Amino acid sequence: MKRSGLFLMTLFFLIFTGSCSTGEDSKPRNIILLIGDGMSFAHFQAGMLASENPLNLEQFRHIGFIKTSSANRFVTDSGAAGTALATGVKTNNGYIGMDPDQNPVRSILHIASDNGLSTGIVVSCAVTHATPAAFIAHQPSRNMAEAIALDYLYSGVDVFIGGGRNHFENRDDGRNLLDELASAGYQIASSMDEVMGVSSGRLAGLVAEGHPPRYSENRGNMLPDATGLTINILNQNRKGFFLMVEGAQIDWGGHANDVDYIVDEMIDFDRAVGKALEFARKDGETLVIVTSDHDTGGMAIHGFDPETREITAGWTTGGHTGLIQPVFAWGPGAENFNGIYENTGVFDKMLEAFGFSKN
Ligand code: MG
Ligand code: ZN
Repeated sequence: MKRSGLFLMTLFFLIFTGSCSTGEDSKPRNIILLIGDGMSFAHFQAGMLASENPLNLEQFRHIGFIKTSSANRFVTDSGAAGTALATGVKTNNGYIGMDPDQNPVRSILHIASDNGLSTGIVVSCAVTHATPAAFIAHQPSRNMAEAIALDYLYSGVDVFIGGGRNHFENRDDGRNLLDELASAGYQIASSMDEVMGVSSGRLAGLVAEGHPPRYSENRGNMLPDATGLTINILNQNRKGFFLMVEGAQIDWGGHANDVDYIVDEMIDFDRAVGKALEFARKDGETLVIVTSDHDTGGMAIHGFDPETREITAGWTTGGHTGLIQPVFAWGPGAENFNGIYENTGVFDKMLEAFGFSKN
């Protein structure tokens, strides 16, 4: 072979391997973390079976498992589990953004915000509920909805969309946090129509007084629509963004031992996952992580009719269980989410992916 040919081949090899390694090893600019509350193996399998088309979740190739126990219980609640995912600290059941000694601990959202990234929360429950609260607030009880609402004012979060408007405007302390948020530069939206009219800047989208309804009771495409809109707003920050999306009511279907409820919420959540993947494919610098905080219901699928797509399931509880949970990852750094580790590892791996330090 002539020297020039060898040179070209070497050059080609370098460029080729170089471009591959920037795809897999480089750091993501953005992270989208999607949490299916109570979304264990049977729950997403039920969604896969009931759905006519493959779920977006089936596109993930990097999959791991997390252990979900809290600091004081084998079976966690969403407060402690959310705190573990958000802050990397195991705490007691019911605590929000605090360690077992009730010291406040900072979440990946706070850290991203401090590093100049834009941040967002999109949920199909009240924004004050345990899972989103773990990313925003520091309170000794998940039930302190008004205190958690107040923490939104000081969180630095740019966009938050969900229910729970009552906790912002009909409060025991008489404060109107919607007015205070508006003074702090937030656009206030109280319906999805109003939310979808916003295209930039800070946004408090409180689209229900309490929790938004379940999917089958006319929630519509609130979760996937809000996810797509928030991505578009946060992506206007060149430094990047962190977004947490929660399919909150998969858990409620589990508590009710109701397969139809789970399937509806699962497929709706998967559409939000689809919005994240669609953006990440185009963007190339976005890490998408999908996980669950715990199992709800101890569901097992023991029958399926492919004609009617009807699922027969059994249950072990109306509460949570201690089953390990799945983690799906896609994008730069996704391979680091393979394996079996504690739920706090999700925070550690996100922090490492961003290249930020804890303090
Ligand atoms: Mg939740
Ligand atoms: Zn639950």
